[in-house]
Amino acid sequence: VARNAGDDEFHQAVHEVLGCLQPVLDRHPEYVDAKIVERLCEPERQIVFRVPWTDDRGRIQVNRGMRVEFSSALGPYKGGLRFHPSVDLGILKFLGFEQILKNALTGLQIGAGKGGSDFDPKGRSDAEVMRFCQSFMTELYRHLGPNTDVPAGDIGVGRREIGYLFGQYKRITNRYEAGVLTGKAPDRGGSVLRTEATGYGCAYFVQEMLATRGDSFDGRTVVLSGSGNVAIYAIEKVHQLGGRVVACSDSTGYVVHEKGIDVDLLRQIKEIQRGRLLDYAERIGADATYVADGRVWDVPCHIALPCATQNELDEHDAISLVDNGCVAVGEGANMPSTPGAIGVFRAAGVAFAPGKAANAGGVAVSALEMQQNAVRDSWSIERVDDKLRAIMSDIHARCYETSEDYGEPGNYVLGANAAGFVTVADAMLALGLV
Ligand code: NDP
Repeated sequence: VARNAGDDEFHQAVHEVLGCLQPVLDRHPEYVDAKIVERLCEPERQIVFRVPWTDDRGRIQVNRGMRVEFSSALGPYKGGLRFHPSVDLGILKFLGFEQILKNALTGLQIGAGKGGSDFDPKGRSDAEVMRFCQSFMTELYRHLGPNTDVPAGDIGVGRREIGYLFGQYKRITNRYEAGVLTGKAPDRGGSVLRTEATGYGCAYFVQEMLATRGDSFDGRTVVLSGSGNVAIYAIEKVHQLGGRVVACSDSTGYVVHEKGIDVDLLRQIKEIQRGRLLDYAERIGADATYVADGRVWDVPCHIALPCATQNELDEHDAISLVDNGCVAVGEGANMPSTPGAIGVFRAAGVAFAPGKAANAGGVAVSALEMQQNAVRDSWSIERVDDKLRAIMSDIHARCYETSEDYGEPGNYVLGANAAGFVTVADAMLALGLV
């Protein structure tokens, strides 16, 4: 604890995992002897650097860049970059730690890392974002490589930012190594469906989870948080699966649209115009209600999908959801539910899919992008979607079977943590003390 003083989110993530591991360690004393837990909690490497850049008015700005290379036991470090004013080393350590088990669950050869900056892209011009990305990559490039460390996007980092980052990497190294970043545009070495993968994958996972209870999305009301990359494509897939998303949010409020969120309009406003949810409500008119400063979790629903950020759904929100009849929760974001909220869901018998399982579709398609880049190929939408569906189904099966194996069928928190841990622990044993 002292070594990571003040890193609250990191402590929270580690605490949740360790809370599940005792039965695993009882079964595997070799993990205890090899100090796997202690080794896993210490990142292999952390890089912190200055990012100076010039804004449109000619003023010099300085941000902090970071990359936590957490574990390479299963493959190159792999995990997104987050640009948000709240980013610090503690948040990146929590995200990197979650990524170890998430990436292990995919069954693909990817290690774990996470990076980013306290840079806030909101309200910045394209030229400012480009200059920031170029400065960020001017340091980070030396730590990356298709077989070393392969970042992707996260909050505040989408296709535009990945494009600028890749451009600078190419310029500095003089190498068109498409496999050094994932989330590129499909006509520039990216995989089709990478943009959609996290949201689609989350819906696929929840569909599997609902099926274990004889339930489905069909005809069901869904509420989700966020209106960014994960949220938009979770809405799209839920609608394709027969559900109706009636509310979504951003950091300043939420919108209720009982007929179902119009995903094409939302995408246009968020992805093309870089507008806000308020713009969506204004465009819809009388059918939509915008609520500033409220809690989206007060909107009644059958299924809830938190897709915004960490600790956005607390105990009171969970009580409100349960009281309003919510029976299933799938985390599209990383650690969006507080420990108190998870306790409420468990006590109420709500089916609960933790982020490290339910949102693994994004990194899984990133790994498929790496495979395509390695052989200079590009696959069809059908092929990638089939693989994504199969991967999410496998992750669900592994989590469910592991929860049964440890005597708590349907406890996906236990299942995800135990199954991911065993995979990475076995790899660490095989590699020796490194
Ligand atoms: P985006 O930046 O595209 O969207 C984030 C959304 O969450 C926005 O609507 C944003 O609102 C809202 N949000 C962000 N911070 C806060 C906050 N502090 N309070 C309330 N709302 C907030 O990010 P993504 O959709 O890519 O990521 C969302 C979550 O999913 C994150 O937890 C991320 O780690 C996780 N994730 C993402 C993956 C991906 O492939 N993109 C893969 C796996 C997990 P506003 O615009 O007002 O800030």
